[in-house]
Amino acid sequence: MKSESSQLHVFFFPLMAHGHTIPMIDIAKLFAARGTKCTIITTPLNVVHFEDNIDRDKKSGLDIGIEIIPFPCVEAGLPEGCESLNCIPSPDMILPFVNALERFREPFERLIEMHCPDCVVADMFLPWTTDAAKKYGIPRLVFHGTSTFSLCVVENMLRYTPQVNVTSDSEVFVLSNFPGQIEFKKSQLRKRDGNTQSAFIELRRKMSETELTSFGIVINSFYELEPVYAEYYRKDLGRSKTWYIGPVSLSNRNVIDKAHRGKKATIDEHHCLNWLDSKKPKSVLYVSFGSISRFNTAQLVEIAMGLESSNVSFIWVIRMENIKSEDQFLPEGFNERLEGKGLIIKDWAPQVLILDHPAIGGFMTHCGWNSTLEGISAGLPLITWPLFAEQFNNEKLVTQVLKTGITAGNEVWSPWIEPEKVLVTKDMVEEVVTQLMGTGEEAEHLRSRARDLGETAKKAVEEDGTSYNDLTSLIEQLRVYSA
Ligand code: UDP
Repeated sequence: MKSESSQLHVFFFPLMAHGHTIPMIDIAKLFAARGTKCTIITTPLNVVHFEDNIDRDKKSGLDIGIEIIPFPCVEAGLPEGCESLNCIPSPDMILPFVNALERFREPFERLIEMHCPDCVVADMFLPWTTDAAKKYGIPRLVFHGTSTFSLCVVENMLRYTPQVNVTSDSEVFVLSNFPGQIEFKKSQLRKRDGNTQSAFIELRRKMSETELTSFGIVINSFYELEPVYAEYYRKDLGRSKTWYIGPVSLSNRNVIDKAHRGKKATIDEHHCLNWLDSKKPKSVLYVSFGSISRFNTAQLVEIAMGLESSNVSFIWVIRMENIKSEDQFLPEGFNERLEGKGLIIKDWAPQVLILDHPAIGGFMTHCGWNSTLEGISAGLPLITWPLFAEQFNNEKLVTQVLKTGITAGNEVWSPWIEPEKVLVTKDMVEEVVTQLMGTGEEAEHLRSRARDLGETAKKAVEEDGTSYNDLTSLIEQLRVYSA
């Protein structure tokens, strides 16, 4: 039993992957800013990316700390040092990685015994944390890290299987028993081989089950963005306890927090800001495909040529793990011709710092939910180029529901982080970039809707905004539970 005034202590246990850890740290900061004691659980090679940030938060007065537990790579059949989804070397290692997560149960329970937290916020990929928390009489909150719309699509397809009767990959079908006329093609849906299929179905079953048996679900979104789907998720799909507390990236308010979020950028933030300062408002396209996906040289060549012929200024972030030098994909003379017009950032860009700059006028994104929501929060129209995971669902939200983006035209779900084929040609890149950044009527409509949504997003996290109030209500309910 805790007294009313005693400080709430919350454990945060993210999946080891930038796209899951980054928003979870933002959530911990939001809780800490409300006077909660927060402990983030991670592993030795993951902590290096954000320990300095947490130190800075501590110095600024937030009660936030880190606990490290070892990652059993070798025991799990993973290469040594493979502590994050971001460094998985091949598709056949995904399942061992996911299976390895079960091995955290024992050290996790030891941490609960040691610190006696009041609540655990844990990633969807750690469904066993619900039982572990129950064992100690504390609630577990689920964090998926994606949009409500996407959660609804996944659950809807599991329940009603509208895709099953569709014979060809290219035939358009509409989701049944679902709000709105949402169109998909079978080629855009996740495909797995027989062996991994059953393991992932089982994992999905456990996740669904714990969504219902946990204390509730925290969502990195804001109610006004997807109200119809928030209600569908609550009422029709039975996820009655959900709290909308995002966009969580907006918790990073100063240059240093934005520049070092997730990982230290490979470009000096001042150089980047100076470059942007020299550009006209809304004139630069930001091109990035998240923390995992990368392209082969053939696809990079198409992007380079398409960007050049669009004649638009751009910042282009390129993952270089599979590339030795940019000579492999940049057309001859590209750097000289585009000096001052195009800025290439290799590996890690200070994304939210860039998106928030007034010179940025559009974002070509792979539709990972963090990037999508960061673009929305910055009031930007999007070019959508989904690749895998649930990214096609987020594309549909942007292009069919919010109508703040247009597609680059990829229609094929990739089974691996590096698609084998060229998905979007030079001409397609040129066309979509020219359209989004141009002065046509449709582009103006996209921009105006995007600007309005960006303003609503910012209001949601301000005092008395919907997300601010949902977090207040969640913390109050946790207090009552722990009293
Ligand atoms: N990110 C970044 N710099 C980069 C690439 C990614 O800051 O160069 C951040 C981005 O802001 C986002 C996260 O990494 O918060 C990526 O998450 P997302 O859901 O967009 O995609 P994923 O990487 O999981 O595919």
